[in-house]
Amino acid sequence: MKSIARLACWLVLAACGFAGASGAAWADDRILVGPGLSNLDLSPHVSFLVDPDGHADASAMFQAAAQGKFKPLPGGNATFGFGNGAYWFHATLYNQGNTEERWLLVLQYSLLDYVDVYMRYPDGRVDHLASGDELPFSARAIRYRHPNFWLNLPQSTEVELLVRAKSESSMQAPLRIYSFGAFAEMERDAQLGIGIYDGILLALFFYNMVLWLSLRDSSHFWYMCHLAGFGLVMFCLNGLAFEYLWPSSPWLANLAIPLSMCLVQMAMHQFARLFLELRERWRFGDRLSLAFISFYALLAIASFWLPYRTSVQLGTYSVFPGVMLLVYQALEAIKRGYAPARLFLAAWAMLLFGTAMYASVSFGLLPKNFVTEYGIQIGSAMEMILLSFALAYRYANLRTENESVVRDANEQLERNVSRRTAELSTALEQLADANSRLRESNRRDVLTGMFNRRHFREVFEQMLHHAIETRQPISLLLMDLDHFKGVNDEFGHLAGDECLRTLARNLDDCLRPEVALTGRFGGEEFVILLPGAAAAKARDVAERIRQRVADSPVRYAGKDIGMTASIGICCLVAGNTATADELLHQADDALYAAKNAGRNRVHVV
Ligand code: GH3
Ligand code: MG
Ligand code: MG
Repeated sequence: MKSIARLACWLVLAACGFAGASGAAWADDRILVGPGLSNLDLSPHVSFLVDPDGHADASAMFQAAAQGKFKPLPGGNATFGFGNGAYWFHATLYNQGNTEERWLLVLQYSLLDYVDVYMRYPDGRVDHLASGDELPFSARAIRYRHPNFWLNLPQSTEVELLVRAKSESSMQAPLRIYSFGAFAEMERDAQLGIGIYDGILLALFFYNMVLWLSLRDSSHFWYMCHLAGFGLVMFCLNGLAFEYLWPSSPWLANLAIPLSMCLVQMAMHQFARLFLELRERWRFGDRLSLAFISFYALLAIASFWLPYRTSVQLGTYSVFPGVMLLVYQALEAIKRGYAPARLFLAAWAMLLFGTAMYASVSFGLLPKNFVTEYGIQIGSAMEMILLSFALAYRYANLRTENESVVRDANEQLERNVSRRTAELSTALEQLADANSRLRESNRRDVLTGMFNRRHFREVFEQMLHHAIETRQPISLLLMDLDHFKGVNDEFGHLAGDECLRTLARNLDDCLRPEVALTGRFGGEEFVILLPGAAAAKARDVAERIRQRVADSPVRYAGKDIGMTASIGICCLVAGNTATADELLHQADDALYAAKNAGRNRVHVV
């Protein structure tokens, strides 16, 4: 992401006309290494000269320096962008009474392909040291992520320093010298900073990995790719990748940069597509993302064959429109009412803000301090933390949405179920009602409304069984109307029917105080069961009925129809047993006896 800052710097530089500025011949100062000094930034004192074809050797350059052909660094900064040829830097150091004679020269930029250091001593001796990422890592003076060299600065001796840097990457050569103690102290802070930064990235990486594995939401996967790519870019830029991942493969060290840049941006656009739900919400925005992703995929493949510089430049220059696209997409999503896009936008604003701070330091607009110098690292860490929050927020949003969908569906389901249940229970009630009516009508005689013979028989058997079990008496009365055929013949069948209905009512009336079961046995015959009644009681009841029938002529069509009835009784004495049929036969016999005895009477067996 330094690339974004660099790009911004170049744009502004070009606008200001800095790019074409050319200095007059300039001879650098002698750098005094006085007592007590422990480290020193050489940039303000260094002069430079570009060797366009890269063929010049050290002696020619020492000569050129002596002739004053070297120029001061533009803006005191050894940052040149993508330049051609070799860059030569010149300085003269003089140890004026510093007891420290062994110094470490550090070039705080790890992507230089070749760095050669020449030291010329007053006796004409020239020491040559070489480093850079085109040489194996082991070529360095100490195991350190930036190119470094031991400088011998004997007391009261002037040493002329010439540094040649050549790279396919952008050219930066911030030179600094350290006493070993000062270097150790400085590097502790830097390592801590890198550790915190990489720690945040790693924690977010594993956090999202767990989320991805458990939730199976692929936006977490692409966010992990983005983190991994970003971490790798930073690891390459700060030189740790070369030290720890591929120390003996300069080829891989160079290839890793464009590849990881492509990975970062592909993953970021894919993440944006999923996170902002572009396919569903904004098709055009989605197509733009796909176009960027395709571009980076092609670039990643092509970087195996393209010159390093071309692929890195393409990757770098496209960062800016890529981030602008993300911001545009987020704004559009917010406009369309998608709330999680706010956090997404805030995350990218953090990165842009951090980058702008870093760029402002480069232009001297802001003072250099921890926050401004590490603006990109801080901004990107904030970006990634915020994106994690955004993912969590989006997840919570999705969950709430799902819950409300499920709740609505459940409520709908419950409403349907209770409606169906109500319908069903109404239907069941109707059915039960119909059944009970059917059962009832099955038990009743249509004409008189009394129990019919079948039902009477069922209950009679139960009661008989109970009476026998409980050793209770029970009496059965069989009643037949006398000469009823004659009633029909004289008054007609309808009159006969009315007589039967009236008789049923009278029977009910007469029996109200008793525990009795009555039924129409057939035609003009009726049965009455008196549980608990012995012969005397049964005779009383029968007599009451007979009397009532005889005393209650039926009024029909203006005429009174008189009737009499004969009743046969059979009793089961307490403690005896008999079947229903036996009792019916006995009652029938008793009835015949009553008929034969002249009718309108009661006979007990
Ligand atoms: P008895 O004194 O010997 O019993 O003479 P009865 O005429 O009553 O006897 P019988 O058994 O010969 O006649 C019974 C009559 O009852 C025949 C029939 O017309 C009449 N009957 C039977 N069921 C009904 C009915 O539901 N409605 C009407 N109107 N008459 C009925
Ligand atoms: Mg009869
Ligand atoms: Mg009869």
